[in-house]
Amino acid sequence: MSVLVYTESEEGSFKKIAFEAVSYAKGVADMLGTSVTAVSINGGDASQLGTYGADKVLEVSNDKLNKFNAEAYADVIAQAAKAEETKVVVLTSSANSKFMAPLVAVNLEAGYVANVTELPVSASPFKVTHSVFTNKAFATTEITTDVKIIGLAKNAYGLKENSAAGATESFTPELAADDFSVEVVSVDKATDKVTIADAEIVVSGGRGLKGPENWGMIEEMADILGAATACSKPVSDMGWRPHSEHVGQTGKPVASNLYIAIGISGAIQHLAGINSSKVKVVINNDAEAPFFKAADYGIVGDAFEVVPQLNEKLKAF
Ligand code: FAD
Repeated sequence: MSVLVYTESEEGSFKKIAFEAVSYAKGVADMLGTSVTAVSINGGDASQLGTYGADKVLEVSNDKLNKFNAEAYADVIAQAAKAEETKVVVLTSSANSKFMAPLVAVNLEAGYVANVTELPVSASPFKVTHSVFTNKAFATTEITTDVKIIGLAKNAYGLKENSAAGATESFTPELAADDFSVEVVSVDKATDKVTIADAEIVVSGGRGLKGPENWGMIEEMADILGAATACSKPVSDMGWRPHSEHVGQTGKPVASNLYIAIGISGAIQHLAGINSSKVKVVINNDAEAPFFKAADYGIVGDAFEVVPQLNEKLKAF
C-alpha cells in the first residue's frame, strides 16, 4: 500500500528530478499514513533515495533497460505497483515520464494527472492541483480511480531531506518481447553542454543582441554559471542559434531555478514557456519592455555594456 515513486537516472546516476519526486512521494505518504517505495531502473546509489524519504528501493538491474524505453519502463513500473499493491504512483513531468505515464495508466487502469505542482489538496476525495494553459492557471482535479498516478511538475516541490531507511530489494520484472517493439538503438547527444531540460540556470538571448556574432558574451555567462543557453523564437528562426535552443510556447519549456533573459521583449508566447522558472531576471534597454512585469529582477541598460560587466563580476565569485 506504499506510495510508489519512479526515480529517473541517466548513465547510472540519479537525476535531480528523482530526488524531487522522492521528496514529494514522502509528503504524499505522510498524508496517507504510509511508506515510500522507490523504483530504480539501473539507477544510482540507493542510499541517496533514503536521504529524501524512500523507505524501500526496488532495484531493477537489466542491461536491456540501459536506454529508456517507454513500453518496457511502463511495464516495470506497473508490475512494481501491482507487487506493492500501491494506490498512488508518483512520476515526474519529464519528457520520458510524460511519454510512459499513459502506458502505466492503461496498465493499472489508473487516472493520471500531469504537471502537479503541490501535495494533494485532500486525500479523500483525492484531489490534486496542476498547472494548465502553459502555467497561466491552476486547476484542481479529483482522481476517482482506485489507483492514482501523479506527474510531478519539475521544480515545483523542491528537495526535502527526510531520513529514511532506503533499504534495497532486488526486483526482477517479467519483460516480454512486446515491451521492446520499439527499441532505441543509440542516443547521440547534440551537445556536451548543459541541456535546457536539466539546467538549473538558463541564459537566454533575444533579437536585441543584433546578430549571432554577439553570442560570445551569452556563452561566457553560461559557462561561468554552469548554465544552458537558450533563445527567443525569431533568433532561431533567423538561424542565429540552433532550433534546439528556442524556448517558449512553441519551443522548449523552461523550469529552471534562474532564467536570465537578455534583449528579449517578453512576448506572451515567450513567457508562456518560461513561466515555471523560479527567479526571472531581465536585461533590456527599454524600461517599457513587457518582460519587466514578469521578472523578479531587472536591469534597464544596453546588453552590450551590462553583460560584459556582469560577467567580470560573476567571474570574481
Ligand atoms: P523582439 O520582440 O524584437 O525584442 C527585442 C528586445 O530587445 C526588445 O525588448 C528591445 O528593447 C531589446 N533590446 C534591443 N536592443 C537591446 C540592447 N542593446 N540591450 C538590451 N536590450 C535590447 N517567441 C518565443 O520567444 N518563443 C516562442 O515559443 C514563440 N512562439 C510563438 C508562437 C506564435 C503562434 C506566435 C504568433 C509568436 C510566437 N513567438 C514566440 C514570437 C513572439 O511573439 C515574439 O515575436 C518573440 O518572442 C520576440 O522575440 P524577441 O523578444 O527576441 O525580439
